[in-house]
Amino acid sequence: MNKSISIIGSGFSSLSAACYLAKQGYKVSVYEKNNDFGGRARQIKENGFTFDMGPSWYWMPDVFDRFFKDFNKKTSDYYKLTKLNPAYSVYFDENNTIPIEDSLEKICNRFEKIEPGSSIKLKKFVLNARENYKVAVLDLLYKMPGESPLELITIDTIKKVKYFLTNIRKEVRKDFKNPMLRAILEFPVLFLGAKPSDTPAFYNFMNYADFGLGTFQPKNGFYDVVQAMISLGKSLGVSYENNSDVKKIITNNNKLVGLEINDNFIGCDIVISGADYNFTEKLLPKNLRQYSKKYWDKRILAPSALLFYVGFNKKLDNIEHHNLIFDTDFDQHAIEIYDNPKWPTNPLSYASFTSKTHKHTAPKGCENGFFLIPIAPNLKDNQQIRDKYFDVLINKLEKITKQDLRDNIIYRKSYCVSDFINDYNSYKGNAYGLANTLLQTAFLRPKLRSKKVSNLYFCGQLTVPGPGVPPAIVSGKLVSDLVIKYEEN
Ligand SMILES: Cc1cc2nc3c(=O)[nH]c(=O)nc-3n(C[C@H](O)[C@H](O)[C@H](O)COP(=O)(O)OP(=O)(O)OC[C@H]3O[C@@H](n4cnc5c(N)ncnc54)[C@H](O)[C@@H]3O)c2cc1C
Repeated sequence: MNKSISIIGSGFSSLSAACYLAKQGYKVSVYEKNNDFGGRARQIKENGFTFDMGPSWYWMPDVFDRFFKDFNKKTSDYYKLTKLNPAYSVYFDENNTIPIEDSLEKICNRFEKIEPGSSIKLKKFVLNARENYKVAVLDLLYKMPGESPLELITIDTIKKVKYFLTNIRKEVRKDFKNPMLRAILEFPVLFLGAKPSDTPAFYNFMNYADFGLGTFQPKNGFYDVVQAMISLGKSLGVSYENNSDVKKIITNNNKLVGLEINDNFIGCDIVISGADYNFTEKLLPKNLRQYSKKYWDKRILAPSALLFYVGFNKKLDNIEHHNLIFDTDFDQHAIEIYDNPKWPTNPLSYASFTSKTHKHTAPKGCENGFFLIPIAPNLKDNQQIRDKYFDVLINKLEKITKQDLRDNIIYRKSYCVSDFINDYNSYKGNAYGLANTLLQTAFLRPKLRSKKVSNLYFCGQLTVPGPGVPPAIVSGKLVSDLVIKYEEN
């Protein structure tokens, strides 16, 4: 009889693992505690507005394409993608906005106008980033389950070793002098959850993802991808159960025998958890947990976020689909996220309006705004604080885009640390998992396979390879490969 696999959670890593293992012949069931599937990528649909609750930047389209190709499908079999132009705009103040267009040539021209001589340097920088992308994303990522340091040692990585010993900030500042250009080039690694000064320069492959590959948008938002993966999984025989809260992992002699779900026992041969790693270990008896409180306390988490989903009853001027509000120095904000955690004094922020390019995501004549302020995990949040920062955000947006907005708000919902904890069992309310610093890369991250319970596996943004939707999809593939390796031999 085929072995049965229970998967905890329905984030991208879980959805990916479910498809790979069902294809391999396992009997796969996905158990999600919430009503909606998709984890941090759920969607709000209210009063005619559609808001993606989490991911909004569709980068690295090749990772999505490769996933569907593994099942002899194409991305376009499931959803329609548009390449955005501009990909995004960066607002430094009301008189300085830099749009990042949809080709490297156009971006180089823009750089040259701001800093003469910078376009040649940019081409070289992006060429190097492309080489790193080929080594890291197209090859290494899929062969690196983090079991051994040897996985990292290849002819290509030996050639690149110097980029692991320096950081993104140093590399960018060596070549570019203009503070706005520096900020733009340091932006993509923020997706990896750490400061540019703590992120190895090798990770500049994110700059190739940004300037080389571009930014895409699924027609109905990021949730299209969730629905696509579930539709594929169903065709392979996966069952998806919502409102299924996993309360315990039941073990017998250091092997798991099943799960306690909503007070019922469900037996299975193998469990993969895509829920936050720290939380999953708490479902086990103490002696079967691998990592201590001290271990977790020492980890550098990716930020949490204060989010607002806002409906406006008019069309907005001077904004694009993706907007970075970089009207203040990131260094101070970064200190308040990583070094001296507190609510930011003067935050940088991000605003997205999918209705700018995809009108059907807001009622006619309206606009849907998604606002994000990155913050330190574990901060105490309450309505008063949320209201204070909402004011800050709207003031900034009004100033930078030169229009009145406050009286045009007809829908508003906030989301912050306590929601991440309540909804996802998120460790310290992190939004993006565990940061990708040098000491939290590959085999130095929490393991995909438990060292204490042999038939228990993990996936997702707190394990290998790290934060972001593309890495989560790869995480599902890596954990499936390990299940096949250990459970079939
Ligand atoms: C605000 C925000 C913006 C982001 N922006 C981007 C972006 O633009 N681009 C990008 O690529 N990435 C982005 N990310 C990161 C990306 O969304 C995540 O890295 C990715 O979705 C994480 O997937 P995951 O598989 O680790 O699981 P999660 O999405 O964390 O899913 C885990 C699931 O487990 C479930 N669960 C927890 N406990 C239990 C239990 N006891 N029983 C059953 N189920 C349980 C949870 O409810 C959840 O559904 C963003 C994230 C956030 C929060």
